[in-house]
Amino acid sequence: MVQIHPRIERLQPYAAGTRPDPGIAAIKLNQNESPYPVSPKVEQAIRSSGAELLREYPDSGCGRLRAALSELHGVPAGAILCGNGSSELITLLYKSFLCENDTVAVPDPTFGLYATAAALVGVKIVSVPTDDDFRLEPGKLAEPSPQAIIIANPNAPTGLYVEAEQIERLLNDFRGLVVVDEAYIDFVPEGTSVIGLTKRYSNLIVLRTFSKAYGLSGARIGYAVADERLIAAMAKGRETFSVNAVAQLAAEAALTDPAYTSLTVERINRTHEAFRAALTDTGWRAWPSFTNFLLATPPSDGPTAQEIYQRLLDRHIYVRYFDAPRLSDKLRISIGTDTEMKTLLEALSDAGA
Ligand SMILES: *Cc1c(COP(=O)(O)O)cnc(C)c1O
Repeated sequence: MVQIHPRIERLQPYAAGTRPDPGIAAIKLNQNESPYPVSPKVEQAIRSSGAELLREYPDSGCGRLRAALSELHGVPAGAILCGNGSSELITLLYKSFLCENDTVAVPDPTFGLYATAAALVGVKIVSVPTDDDFRLEPGKLAEPSPQAIIIANPNAPTGLYVEAEQIERLLNDFRGLVVVDEAYIDFVPEGTSVIGLTKRYSNLIVLRTFSKAYGLSGARIGYAVADERLIAAMAKGRETFSVNAVAQLAAEAALTDPAYTSLTVERINRTHEAFRAALTDTGWRAWPSFTNFLLATPPSDGPTAQEIYQRLLDRHIYVRYFDAPRLSDKLRISIGTDTEMKTLLEALSDAGA
């Protein structure tokens, strides 16, 4: 019998949000996808290249895209590495900078993929609890003296963020690797990105994705920005053609339409505020969130979060339920269109929540 690697035997795979069966029209508020179409420029670019795009291998270095990102962020192209979603880059940075049994400190709660990817390569996760309101003091992550620290900023599934200055303070005190995952930074009104700090701190890696604000979850494309030495190391170990031609073209086209992205973000943020107000009016408690999702606790005199999750599921409305300490009495709800959120509010009322 073929032996299965003990780490794989023990691995708890990352549980992605439920997807509807074919032919079912669901309201998907469980994966923080954009509810709006991709930019017309993306649509046009893909249409005009057509299936011809698939004949040749893609540019393994994503040269054109990195040039555009270099311009956007004011960092050298050599300080940028593209990947098959930021998910690929998370695994890649473990492989590039950490040895077996090294420790990585992450806040609790946070994005589950950090732990799944760590288990896969034998890296140990140290969870540092956030406070009762899920706030995080970045300095606390350095206390267990880990080899690396990962902060999702804003954090998931809570939606809270820390200011760039707080991260800079951490960088002044901590010499190990600091990874800041900025998947949702475009939704924060006064961008607190730390991409600029990669020029001064050679131990900082910033992760970005086209999956959220750009609405390209299905294309699978994200990128890392860091000191060129770190980027070169990650590039060496990367799957050569992990970013396919369609993804590269879509991301390049999306970057030519910043007005569309800002408009989409504004619409989502407006819907977010209106939905939050309506939800809390019915007795829910919602945490401050600067993202395209919110975390909320239903009123204690009604059905539990898990019961509500199930009742919504029965009506093909998908939200996220986490069976985890501190989260099992809450739901994480992605922000969809105004119509979708109205349907959700009606369904919640029908569900007795
Ligand atoms: C959605 C998300 C990502 C993005 O993952 P991709 O692989 O780029 O789609 C990364 N980090 C966090 C915290 C996320 O929620």
